[in-house]
Amino acid sequence: MAAPVPPLLPLPLLPPPENIPAFGGFSTALRVDISPRMSRPHNMGSIRIGVSSCLLGEQVRYDGGHKRNAYVTGVLAAFFELLPVCPETECGMGVPREALRLVRDRDELQLVAARSGRNHSAAMKRWSKRRLRELEATGLSGFILKKGSPSCGMERVRVYTAAGRPAPSGSGLFAAALVQANPGLPVEEEERLEDPALRDNFIERVFAFARLRDLLGGRWRIGDLVDFHSREEMLLLAHDAEAPGLLAEVLAAAGQNGRLQTASAYRAAFMSVLAKRAAKRRQARVFEHMLGYLRGFLGTREKSELTATISDFRRSQVPLIGLITLFRHYARLHRVEYLERQSYLQPDPREVALRNRV
Ligand code: SF4
Repeated sequence: MAAPVPPLLPLPLLPPPENIPAFGGFSTALRVDISPRMSRPHNMGSIRIGVSSCLLGEQVRYDGGHKRNAYVTGVLAAFFELLPVCPETECGMGVPREALRLVRDRDELQLVAARSGRNHSAAMKRWSKRRLRELEATGLSGFILKKGSPSCGMERVRVYTAAGRPAPSGSGLFAAALVQANPGLPVEEEERLEDPALRDNFIERVFAFARLRDLLGGRWRIGDLVDFHSREEMLLLAHDAEAPGLLAEVLAAAGQNGRLQTASAYRAAFMSVLAKRAAKRRQARVFEHMLGYLRGFLGTREKSELTATISDFRRSQVPLIGLITLFRHYARLHRVEYLERQSYLQPDPREVALRNRV
């Protein structure tokens, strides 16, 4: 059987397969054999996502109402385990209660009752610290927050001066603590999920975060993280041409930095790459890149068909999943192991179902 040849494109930049025994650019010490256990497609259990309780229809708002969100309750609830969190009621405020607002006091934001002026910041910060530790133990892979809330709002929440005048906007107190305690955790507001591109990116990040969490939550060695990285290369490439190389450098420094520091640096870099938009043009180039691995196995007709399908994808005449299915078929048929192992070609069925709705 003919060996795959290097891609013909000027795009990435991963060395051709015959030059990378385990993974390109690594020191010998970091090269690992890919065992069958490590190579099998990912098979995750249930994925947990935290959600501001009022979005699930719980009547926890200051006025006793809710903000049930149809996409969260009607679609996401069928695919994820949703974990309701209401910072204001859980930290001891009742329903109904006084409406709260953010007030800037020098450099700090305070959570203050709008009418009485009672300051709830200390209680909210204490509770957030404890609750975030509990949430970490439950293994969250994402969070959906209520927009505009002085507790839950992720960004652009209204802020006032002590005199009641408008000040530059900020983040709700719980939302800020959540993001700070969980670098890389996919976090979005319900209103932003109405944008198809942001929604698609959020879902993609949730599944990627869950895959990495799955690995780092168990017993793992640096070699396992190297293997993980090699399976994610095409996905990373779809977001940023430089990303596979940059993340490989994080792994290559594992000898000096140790296992835990490497894991946290890798997670932060991995998730920040995925937060970048995967433009259609870039994704098309990733498929052209993958075609380089298949060329030696394909006849002229098959190559033309794949090239034409990539062009159709670029013109939005073929959906991403159509192209993925086609490439996965050829990778399996010709046993091109490097491609068979790519998470980009092996999305979780739940991810496919959710992203197909976008
Ligand atoms: S926005 Fe947050 S704090 Fe306010 S009711 Fe909803 S879940 Fe509770």
